[in-house]
Amino acid sequence: MAVLTSYDAGSYHKVAGSDTIQATAVGSVDALAISDLPQVIAQARSSQKAWASLALSERQQYVVKAYQALAEVQDELAMLIGQEMGKDYRRATYEVGGTIQNAPYFAGEIGDALAAEDLGHNTQLQYRPLGVVAVISPWNYPLAMANNLLMPALIAGNSVVLKPSEETPLVAQLFVDTLNKVLPAHVLQVAQGDKVLGQALVSADINMVAFTGSLAAGKHIMANAAPGLKRLVMELGGNDPMIVMASANIDAAVRFAVASSFENAGQMCTSTERIYVDERIADEFEQKVVQLASRYQVGTWDQAQVNIGPMVNPTQHQKVLQQLQDAKAKGAQFLLGSDDYSLPFIQPTVVSGLTPDMLLEREETFGPVVAISRFNDINDAITRANDSIYGLSAAVFGGQGAHAVAEQLEAGMVGVNQGGGAGNAPWVGAKQSGFGFHGTAAGHRQFGQVRVMSY
Ligand code: NAD
Repeated sequence: MAVLTSYDAGSYHKVAGSDTIQATAVGSVDALAISDLPQVIAQARSSQKAWASLALSERQQYVVKAYQALAEVQDELAMLIGQEMGKDYRRATYEVGGTIQNAPYFAGEIGDALAAEDLGHNTQLQYRPLGVVAVISPWNYPLAMANNLLMPALIAGNSVVLKPSEETPLVAQLFVDTLNKVLPAHVLQVAQGDKVLGQALVSADINMVAFTGSLAAGKHIMANAAPGLKRLVMELGGNDPMIVMASANIDAAVRFAVASSFENAGQMCTSTERIYVDERIADEFEQKVVQLASRYQVGTWDQAQVNIGPMVNPTQHQKVLQQLQDAKAKGAQFLLGSDDYSLPFIQPTVVSGLTPDMLLEREETFGPVVAISRFNDINDAITRANDSIYGLSAAVFGGQGAHAVAEQLEAGMVGVNQGGGAGNAPWVGAKQSGFGFHGTAAGHRQFGQVRVMSY
């Protein structure tokens, strides 16, 4: 049996005098061989029938009880998140705690959304299970991202095969093993492996893929899901802009700019990636951003006071480094940063003079970088904000006129004097940030097959 080894994100380092990279193993799990996948799917299919025959309220109760069991391993989950992907303990605890505490509410909302609707004239709209749903999840919020799509899929009466990120297999294993102490056998299974296993899963005899991850992987998944016309939810990357107008409350804009660029060490789909600031206030804005950004502390998950962890792995570290080097070569000024970007950290960095040809502007940046450009015409700022294949979230800070600017932004979630996205609204991307979404009745209903029943 092949094993998948998980490494401590904070331990990656180059061996002195060589290019060899070493890291400490946190643990390992059994990797699923592709040849064993048909058996997993067959088990998912047969368990799904009995699961779907339960009343919606019974499935809800099962799921709520299963999530209660997570409380016993809450601390262990938070520590694993810290070790496997580097999130500081406070934030990891928040991710785990939020998932557990919100479970009863979330389950209730899902149940309400999926209840049959009486349309009158002896006709009912029903949400029937789809069958087997593959949930493929990323590493950056390893528990929350799996949970967001897995729970509605289960309550809708589907069985689920979770393919977690190969960077965070231990979090996923503990999550699934704990839920399975309560759930009927094989209703929820975990398929541990890398993207090759993910590809095989998408092509297997399943009915839906609920995916959160990169645009590149999303495109492959769409292509591989096409022959079977499998249902898709695609929650992909972002390159989120922020516009700061001259009328903005500068301190509020600075707080948001820094916090949302550095959250989760910048490894967040909705982190602020490009800031366009009116040149009349740009000096003050930049100076205050640097002041605040320099207070952030880099370190490993278990160190108190740390609020920027390591990059998840050397590949991601190298990618951010290349984006910074490209910006430097093209004339960007580094207002804050360091000459020492050695593994596994990217020091908090503030770059000014961002231009459209820089990788920092064109690509999603998964690192703690505030990237700023100045404008003297708001229409130019709007054009540049929209000049991206992505459209996840966007923010405008300003007084009068900010709403009119916000209306012109091409993103699924737009915020005026705040980040885009709201707790009572679906999480949704525009353009190549994906389609389908999670949260709210409309999100939950994606996990059901609509059936119109006339009596
Ligand atoms: P990734 O796409 O590399 O991997 C995500 C998952 O997909 C992993 O489990 C991986 O093994 C699997 N995978 C990769 N290629 C595959 C393929 N061809 N077929 C099937 N499975 C495949 O992404 P990542 O690096 O884990 O996560 C970071 C990305 O996720 C960023 O782009 C980020 O913006 C995005 N993200 C989006 C949201 C959102 O809500 N929109 C939330 C979190 C993360």
